[in-house]
Amino acid sequence: MKIKNPRTGQFYYEIFPPSAKELKGKTDLMREAQILWAKSGINFRIQALQAWKVVIEEFKDDLIDALCMDTGRKLETILEVDFVFSSIDRWSNISRHFFLKTERKPSFIPFLEIEQEYEPYSLVGVISPWNFPLFLSLIDTIPALLAGSAVVVKPSEIAPRFIEVLQKTINQVPDLLGVLNFIEGGEETGEELCKLTDIICFAGSTSTGQKIYQSACDNFIPVFLELSGKNAVIVTETADIERATSAILWGSVTNAGQSCWSIERIYVHKHIFHQFLSRLVAKANQLKLAFPNMDSGQIGPIISEKQVAIINDQLEDAFRKGAILKAGSIKCEELGGGYYFRPTILTNVTHDMKIMTNETLGPILPVMAYTNIDEAIKFVNSSQYGLSGAVFSGKEVEAMSIARLMKCGAVSVNHAALNGVLHEGEISAFKIYGIGGTRTGVSTIEKFLKKKVYLINAKDVKNS
Ligand code: NAD
Repeated sequence: MKIKNPRTGQFYYEIFPPSAKELKGKTDLMREAQILWAKSGINFRIQALQAWKVVIEEFKDDLIDALCMDTGRKLETILEVDFVFSSIDRWSNISRHFFLKTERKPSFIPFLEIEQEYEPYSLVGVISPWNFPLFLSLIDTIPALLAGSAVVVKPSEIAPRFIEVLQKTINQVPDLLGVLNFIEGGEETGEELCKLTDIICFAGSTSTGQKIYQSACDNFIPVFLELSGKNAVIVTETADIERATSAILWGSVTNAGQSCWSIERIYVHKHIFHQFLSRLVAKANQLKLAFPNMDSGQIGPIISEKQVAIINDQLEDAFRKGAILKAGSIKCEELGGGYYFRPTILTNVTHDMKIMTNETLGPILPVMAYTNIDEAIKFVNSSQYGLSGAVFSGKEVEAMSIARLMKCGAVSVNHAALNGVLHEGEISAFKIYGIGGTRTGVSTIEKFLKKKVYLINAKDVKNS
C-alpha cells in the first residue's frame, strides 16, 4: 500500500498490512500475554508505561519527523507528541485508584457478604484517523493498557509513518512487547480487527463508524465511536467582537480546519454582523499558508486527498447557490504538489448548502446573521451532528443559558478552544456524533473494565 506525501503529492512510503491469518496469529499471542499483564497489578503496569515514556523521549525527534512528513505540519505535531508524556503520567495517577483492594461489605441478605472487583477486557482494538495520527491512536490505548487489557492499534493508512518509530520504542520495553501492537493497514485490516477484539474504540468518519457498529453487533462486542462534527458558534449582540473574531478564527483554521472539533458554522446577531465580519476578514487575511516550508506560515496542507475533493465540492455547491466570497479562495490551491485552502470566509449562506450541513474539515468559515436567540438556537440544533459548539456573549449568564440549549457534548463559553483536548470534563455523544461512554475524564478507564461481584456465604466458614 503506497503512501503520499501531503506537501509534494508524491508516493514516498509503503506499508505492508498483515494478512488476516497473520493478524489472527498476532492477536492470539496478545490474548495469552494479556493474562499475565492483567495479573501483574497496577504498579507493574504503571512502571512499564513509565519505562515506555522514557524510550519515547529518546525517539522524540524521530517521531516528530515521521509525523511532520505525513501531515505536513509542525506545531500541532509537537503538541501531539507532548500529549503522550502528559497522558501517561495523568493516567498512571488516575488508574491507581481503580485497583485499590476492595473491602468486603455486608449485603441485605444477612449471611451473604460481597466483594466487588474489576476485570479488564482481554483485547482492545483501536482504529484511528489521519488528522491527529498519534494523539488519536493513543487516547484510548494508554488507559486501556493501564486497565490491564492488551491493545492492538490500527492507525490511518493516510498518515502511518510514525508506526515504525513507535513500534521501535515498544520493542525496547519487554514488559509491553506482548500486549501492545501497532499494525499497518487500511479498511480491510480494520474490518479484520473488528472481528478479533473484545471491544473497539474508533475515531473517524460517520460512515465508517456505522460499518463498525454493524460489525460489532454481529460479533456482539461493545464499541465506542467518536465521529464527525459540524460545530457551530453563536455570537450575541453583547459579545466582545475582538475576542470573538480572534478566537473563532483560531477555532476554525487551526490545523487547517482538520479537527473534528473545528468551528464550521458561525451565527452572528444581525446588529453586529457587519462589524464582526469586517474584523474577521481583516484577521483572516493576515494568515499565511505554511508554504513552501512548514515554519513559514500558519495554514498547512490538507492531509487527505479525499478531503480536498469534499471541500472543493462543498465550495462549488455554495457558490452555485449564491454564497459570496469575503476572504480566501473559491477552491483549493495546488502548490508544489500539495493542496492548500486559505482561511475562506463566506456570507449569503443558507441551510440548503452542503457547507452549512455537512462536515467540511477545512479552514472554511460560513457566516450567517440571526435575528433573535430562538432563531440562532434553531439553526444550531438543526444539524444532525452534536459534537461541540461555542457561544460568545458579554454576559456570562446569557452565554450559559444559550450553551445549555445547544444540543452537543461540549460547549466553549467565550472562547473557541478545541474541546476534545481538555481531559478534565466528560463528553457524551449527542446525535450522530457517536456511541458509547466518554473518552475524556476519569470514567474513561471504566470502558475497559468489567464489573464483577463475589457473593460470599460467610456464615460458619473458617478462613484458613
Ligand atoms: P475514516 O472513517 O475514513 O477512517 C478512520 C479509520 O478507520 C482509518 O484507520 C481507516 O483505515 C479505518 N477504516 C476504514 N474503513 C473501515 C472499516 N470498514 N472497518 C474498520 N476500519 C475501517 O476517517 P478518516 O478520513 O481517517 O478521518 C476523518 C474523519 O474522522 C472526520 O469525519 C473527522 O471528523 C473524524 N474524526 C473524529 C474524531 C473524534 O474524536 N470524534 C477525531 C478525529 C477525526
